[in-house]
Amino acid sequence: MRFTRLRLNGFKSFVDPTDLVIADGLTGVVGPNGCGKSNLLEALRWVMGENRPTAMRGGGMEDVIFAGAATRGARNFAEVSLHIDNTERLAPSGFNEADELDIVRRITRDAGSAYKAAGRDVRARDVQMLFADASTGSHSPALVRQGQISELINARPKARRRILEEAAGISGLYQRRHEAELK
Ligand code: ATP
Ligand code: MG
Repeated sequence: MRFTRLRLNGFKSFVDPTDLVIADGLTGVVGPNGCGKSNLLEALRWVMGENRPTAMRGGGMEDVIFAGAATRGARNFAEVSLHIDNTERLAPSGFNEADELDIVRRITRDAGSAYKAAGRDVRARDVQMLFADASTGSHSPALVRQGQISELINARPKARRRILEEAAGISGLYQRRHEAELK
């Protein structure tokens, strides 16, 4: 699975629809402090099912919705969609029918988040599992937040094991076992 485009609409500072095209090779995002570079990475993590507001640097999940600026009113919803090239058919079963796969997450004030995958309404868990099985996702060690390296160095053994499991691509199994134990 190759991510080819991230589309933001009303997400944090990206009030107008904005496309980040992810071409082959290395994509760099540069800009002055506060222009929204970290917001882009947060949008990527969010569309993959991140459900901790703190990981979005917010107090509540609705803080990701554009909150208004001097010349623009606040928005009522935020939407992020991730476009995936699936020509190699590496998406997990159930999502693997087509050459392209779109994952969409939308949050509406007072109504929470809703997800779509391949045009169908799905649960947050389905999206989290889809990416966990593909060895990526909102907790993936491939996404390195500012300050995360020092967290890793200071992590307790259990937390460090989680990071290694994610890297080994078995976190989907881990989550299923955890859910089975709760039943
Ligand atoms: P740095 O180089 O300092 O790391 P950056 O490019 O990573 O900066 P971000 O942290 O992504 O910048 O963007 C911060 C900006 O996003 C701030 O101006 C902040 O006001 C704005 N912002 C965050 N959440 C919202 C929101 N809900 N509505 C409107 N603007 C927001
Ligand atoms: Mg930043």
